[in-house]
Amino acid sequence: MELQDKLAILADAAKYDASCASSGAQRRDSRGGRGVGSAGGEGICHSYAPDGRCISLLKILLTNRCLYDCHYCINRRSSNVRRASFTPEEVVRLTLDFYKRNYIEGLFLSSGIVRSADHTMGQIVEIARTLREEHDFRGYLHLKTIPEASPDLTALATKYADRISLNLELPSQRSLDRLAPEKNLHRTTEAMGRIRTLVDEAKAQRRDGDRKLRHATGQSTQVIVGADASSDADFLQRSVELYTRYRLRRVYYSAFSPIPDASSVLPPSAPPLLREHRLYQADWLLRHYGFQVDEIVEAARPDLDLRMDPKLSWALRHRHEFPVPLQTAPREQLLRIPGLGVRTVDRLLTIRRHHRLRLDDLARLRVPLEKVRPFVITEDYRPPSSLLDGERWVERFLPKPQQLELF
Ligand code: SF4
Repeated sequence: MELQDKLAILADAAKYDASCASSGAQRRDSRGGRGVGSAGGEGICHSYAPDGRCISLLKILLTNRCLYDCHYCINRRSSNVRRASFTPEEVVRLTLDFYKRNYIEGLFLSSGIVRSADHTMGQIVEIARTLREEHDFRGYLHLKTIPEASPDLTALATKYADRISLNLELPSQRSLDRLAPEKNLHRTTEAMGRIRTLVDEAKAQRRDGDRKLRHATGQSTQVIVGADASSDADFLQRSVELYTRYRLRRVYYSAFSPIPDASSVLPPSAPPLLREHRLYQADWLLRHYGFQVDEIVEAARPDLDLRMDPKLSWALRHRHEFPVPLQTAPREQLLRIPGLGVRTVDRLLTIRRHHRLRLDDLARLRVPLEKVRPFVITEDYRPPSSLLDGERWVERFLPKPQQLELF
């Protein structure tokens, strides 16, 4: 098979990984004989480096052959797709060719599992080693690792990569047993624990003066939302455990997308994309706003309200805590006001040292005043109690209904 054909298959197969958000976007080029240029080559997508820069990556699988049969995966053993595999040398050559031409700033490499976890992981590590040690490759390297692979191979992967990820896929062993019977939650979290230790040790070495030490600075994972009955509370509880125990940098929530020849245990349609968005918002509240999972989703309603963002939803369920005096409230309380982000809150804390806060200050900080008004007291404003009380109060915060077009 030609390298170009392999690239088409293995770049397409990699697009289901959520860590590179732009990879599902439609690409336009001039190959049909019309138009000018081809801005994005096969397999090139954008992602974010640990320092927040947006970078272009060659995002591919080493192979889309796999021993496992995860129902939600297009590359599963029983799937009827065209198969292809790169050799490690081909991946190295493609990466260097693209890198030297400035098409990419790095490589995102994942793989199906062939022969054994150790065999596949050994090939991934060999690619990383060749790039770093033989070619002095300075680009960004994001490697997927396999939980079942030997700890030594995982350690080598963290030595060469900038970012490591291990996909958890589903939040409980019960869900895995049903949809990914070969996967084991305990093995995956155990591997995450080992990576955390390696990352911490490398950080300590850097602190002790070995500033040139190259090593992965963090790990991330992906979960698939809507492939089974797992609730948003299940996903968020698991995410909190991953952030606290294994210090994951990010949990990516990927809405399940129906695949060709899907297994009958899968739902026939995708969940609303809004669910993925609400999970990201809730995840943000957990990490940066001091919320707990049981404040965001309640036992009686374990799924997020799709009609509004989770902070607004919490505020409307806790109306007795509002309005909040902006001049005197502590930071934790300000962070709970709908419409105020972390940066705005920090700027308000600075401004209020110099003068008493007025609505104008919020306007200057580009705060959405309509959203914030019912929840705050400023020097020149106190909301009428009717804003958070009365009949049909929730409807005031929902988008206005729109007349659908007939044709
Ligand atoms: S192990 Fe990975 S590539 Fe293989 S079927 Fe499962 S999700 Fe797909």
